[in-house]
Formats: sequence, C-alpha cells, structure tokens
Amino acid sequence: MEPFLFQSKKGLPFFSLAPWKKEFPHLQVGFSARKPQEDWSTCNYALHVGDNPAKVIYNRKQLSEALGVSFASWTCGEQVHGVHIEVVHSDQRGKGREVRETAFSDTDGLLTGETDILLTSYYADCVPLFFYSPDLDWVGVAHAGWKGTVAGIGEKMLQNLVELGANLKNIRVAIGPSIGGCCYEVDEKVIQPLRSILQSDELKPTIAKRNNHSKWQLDLKQANAAIFLKNGINPQHLIISSWCTSCDLDYFYSHRRDQGNTGRMVAWIGKKERRSS
Ligand SMILES: [Zn+2]
Repeated sequence: MEPFLFQSKKGLPFFSLAPWKKEFPHLQVGFSARKPQEDWSTCNYALHVGDNPAKVIYNRKQLSEALGVSFASWTCGEQVHGVHIEVVHSDQRGKGREVRETAFSDTDGLLTGETDILLTSYYADCVPLFFYSPDLDWVGVAHAGWKGTVAGIGEKMLQNLVELGANLKNIRVAIGPSIGGCCYEVDEKVIQPLRSILQSDELKPTIAKRNNHSKWQLDLKQANAAIFLKNGINPQHLIISSWCTSCDLDYFYSHRRDQGNTGRMVAWIGKKERRSS
C-alpha cells in the first residue's frame, strides 16, 4: 500500500507518511503537493526557482500553519546535488527559511536530534530520502537526484547516524515521491556509475530497456532502495513510495515534464516536543 497518503488541511494539499506517523506519533513528516490546474507559484516552496520570494515565504507560512508547526523551526540547506550533510542544532534553527543566503551552503542532507526543528528539502523529480533512528531519536532528510545517488548521499546519511550511535538494524528509511522508472529515460552514461555500486542482480530491477530503443528507463527510487539494502537496512524498515512526479501531474511539479519551468515540493521531517504523561 502507498505509504504517502494524500490529504488536505486548511485548503493545502500534502502527503503524510502514514506508517511513521502511526508508529512514531511525535514525528512531523511528509511531502507537499501542488494544486491541480493552478499556477505553479501557488504551492512552490523553494526560493531558487525565480518565483517571488514573498510568495514563497507566504506559502511556507501557510503550510506551517496547516501542519501545526512553527515557521521559525523551518530549516533549509542550499542543495547542490552533492553529499555534504549538516547536523542542525537549536541555535541554527530556521536557517534559510526567509532568504537563501542563510541556508546551510552546499548541503543536501540534514540531521537533527533536537525537537522543534523542521528539516526541509526541495524537489521536482529528485528523490527525497527520510531517515529516523528510534534508538537515538534522530531524524534526517536528504535530496537524492541521480548525481547525489551515485555519489552516495543515502549511504553517507546512514554512516553519520551510525557514527552518532544509531543501530543500523533499527534505522528506518522512507523513499518519497519522485520521477518513476516509467518517465525517467536516461543514457548509458547515467547507468554506468550505478554498475560500479550495484551488482548486476541488484541493478536489474531498477532499469529497463524499451524495445528498439537505445536508452534506459531508470527507477531512481528502486536504485536508492537497492543501495540501502546493500548497506544493511532491514527490508522491513524500508518504505518506498510509488508516486511518480511526472505521471501524477495533478499532485506534483516535474522538472522534466514541465521542461524546467516549475515549482518545487518540500519534504519535511522534525520532532514535536514530547508531552510527558
Ligand atoms: Zn511516470
């Protein structure tokens, strides 16, 4: 069953990561959606796509309100398709929420163990990776396009959590909505680096070739899943969305489908203050 469930609050559409919300109710975790047939600026949450910054901040505030989180907790990295990861502390809470210049520079992965910090990252086809270590009670999010995937952002997130003391066998990973294998046509040069990371039997379920066609269809979500399994994630702790950002045009912006002229969804994860009982 699809783990990212569509819902709407205060008129704003988004996806909630249902299995985690159920098992770990103190987590805030999800992925935004667009409004069908509306201009892309209505649900654009990123400051780097040429949209009016005031409108983006307004959208972020509206979503924060709908989710019941503080806009002051909204924290961002400046994504560059790299593998740099930042651990966010309370004095860094809110970096990048109003201007790009204060976001963590060159950062595609964010981790925190503190409450009331909303880690965010931005998407229009790339793969959002969500992390939770129940033993540490740490959360993380990472932006994995093709470049970040082959450079090892997912593996590096796991390494950081383990170095912090997490038990790898307990780490939960969720792979969110992204462009699917159905719509992501790539050249052999894109597949080549994956061949050095994955064995042929691990790579096989992630790629397909259409008849009489020299190009590949790459399922980047499945490629990330294969990398997580290879790195020791328990298959029962791995969740994969089936949403395709290119096919499911009523819900998502897609950089490929929209030929670059589009907004960005936001992926978020954070911990609410636990209420003592
Ligand atoms: Zn598709």
